[in-house]
Order: sequence, then structure tokens, then C-alpha cells
Amino acid sequence: MPKKSRRKTSRVKPRKRKKKSSLRGFLVLTAVILLAVFINHVYPDWIYLFQSKHDNGVLYVSFLDVGQGDSVFIACDGKTMLIDTGEREYSDEIIRYIRRYGYSRIDVLVATHAHSDHIGGMADIIRYFEIGSMLMPNVQHNTQTFENMLDAILEKNVTVYSPTPGDTFEIGGALVTILAPFRLSRDNLNNTSIVLKVEYGEHTFIFTGDAEGDVEAEILATGFDISANVLKVGHHGSSTSTAENFLRAVSPEIAVIQLGSGNSYGHPHREVIERINRIGAVIYRTDTNGTIEISTDGTILEIKEKSWVRRLLDEIFN
Ligand SMILES: [Zn+2]
Repeated sequence: MPKKSRRKTSRVKPRKRKKKSSLRGFLVLTAVILLAVFINHVYPDWIYLFQSKHDNGVLYVSFLDVGQGDSVFIACDGKTMLIDTGEREYSDEIIRYIRRYGYSRIDVLVATHAHSDHIGGMADIIRYFEIGSMLMPNVQHNTQTFENMLDAILEKNVTVYSPTPGDTFEIGGALVTILAPFRLSRDNLNNTSIVLKVEYGEHTFIFTGDAEGDVEAEILATGFDISANVLKVGHHGSSTSTAENFLRAVSPEIAVIQLGSGNSYGHPHREVIERINRIGAVIYRTDTNGTIEISTDGTILEIKEKSWVRRLLDEIFN
């Protein structure tokens, strides 16, 4: 008898358990879904919690593919700098790129000059991120884009400096030196571009905005040491920039041109490509290479771009 009853109960119990567990499963699933919806509503950036982080002791320089425009994201030892934002349509992509590495603050935001292919997304970036301080030339420009940027600066009460050549500051372990502008004239906004040099260990990068030949000559005249491994080629590869003597003084190993494919300016101009080829630098272009990521621990320079995965595959299959 005891055996029988045990069998009976053992037959009945699992069915009961199944019902209970399926109900419990349903409740748990519903609770998880509701919690996920709630978290997503309160903290829509939760996805970024699982993204990769940059290492300390490394300088990361990313030439973002923002079509016909400039945007460079720099990170070192947890500190960040964003030079330009491209046109406004790229704001979301830039935000995603930066958030991907877990950053919610831009320590130094640089608006090289007032043209929309450099400051188009500035208002969005200022509103989205916590901004340490901002650098921009104190030059008036009467466009909606420029006004939007000023509105965002005032809204967020961002501290803004108009830097002068020779100013220095640090981004983590990297030293930044301002090389230009010299004059703040509205006649040619390109020549109000903030030009800066970033040094980390044995490596130096120069970012020129859209500064033209006149400014390059002025930089040369200051006697600043402008030799660099990596040059962000001026003005999207326009022949108005990257004069031969300036290029020789920088003598970069790598020249990066930020531009959109099929742009209406004919960038990059043939003469500029020829000048760069003559000094033997390797050219990377955002229109063909996409976003170009260069990093260095101060000694070794690493480059990753769109065709980098292809190169890895070639290496594997060779
Ligand atoms: Zn430009």
C-alpha cells in the first residue's frame, strides 16, 4: 500500500509542478520584459554598458567617416577630445561611435572654424555630452548652423576659449599644442581654423582644419617644431592647402584626407596627392578607407580602417 500511494503521488506531482512552473515561467518572462521596457525607457543607453573600453596608456585617434567634412575623436587615459563634427546628419553616428567606448563626456570640444562641414553637428554634440570646455575661434558667422551652436553653448553654459598659437594643454598623457589661428578675420573663415599638434611618446599628429597656404606659411615662420608622423591633410585635400614646404617640414609617414566620395569640389586635388606621394607618405582617405583608427602606446603605431579586416583575411589565407 505505501508503495502504491507513493507511485500515485509521484504520477500526479510532476503534472502539478509542470503547470506551476509554466505559470511561473510566464510570470518571470513577463516581469523580465516589463523590467527591460522600463530600463530602456529610463536609461536608453544601457546597451553601451556592454561595449568595449579603451586601454589606458594608449592614444586613440579616430578619423571618422563623415562624408564631405571633418571629425576626429581622440581619447587618451580616459580623457577625450573631439575635433569638429561634420555636417549635422552625422551627429547620431558620432554619438554612437563615442558612446560605444563608454564615454559620456568630451573633455575638450574643438570647433576648428565656422563652416557647416565642421560644426554641423556641434549643437547636437553639446546637448548630448557633458562638455569640459570648448575651443573655437572668436569669429562671427551668420548662418543657422552657427547660431544653433551658440544657442547650445549658452544653454549648457559651456566654457569657451579662443586659443592662440603656443597654448598647450593635456588630454590624459598626450600633450596638445595650438599652432594656429593667427588672425580672426571674417574674410576667409578657413584661415581662422584652429590647427593643433598632439604628441604622445614618440608620435606626433597634426590637425589642420581647413587652414590654407597662408596659415601654413605663418606656422612655418613661428619656428614651431611641426615634424609629425601623421598629418590630417588641410581642407579635404584642396590645392589651397598642403603647400610643398609645409609638407616637407611636417614630413609625415601617414597623410589622412577627410572627404566624401564624388564631392562637388573635386577633392582631393591631384596636385596635393602628387605632393604627398613625392614625400613618400602613405595616404588614407575616409571616402575610400571609411573611418580610420590610429592608436599608439607611444612607440608602436597601429592603423585600422575598413579594408583592415580584408587584410587580416588575406594574411590568414596566404
Ligand atoms: Zn571643410
